[in-house]
Amino acid sequence: MAKKKKKLMVKMQCGDCKEVNYYAHKTKNVEGKLSLKKHCSPCRKHTVHKEAKK
Ligand SMILES: [Zn+2]
Repeated sequence: MAKKKKKLMVKMQCGDCKEVNYYAHKTKNVEGKLSLKKHCSPCRKHTVHKEAKK
């Protein structure tokens, strides 16, 4: 039997302008909310991107 791997995509939202700039794969190992420091083009700087609510 083949196992079906389900990848969960989450939106990564800029903490400053609330723009969704990235998508990340969330694995089951990750607990709580993801947060990544990424470059935001509207802000033109690196900001903390947090997982957006659905
Ligand atoms: Zn931004």
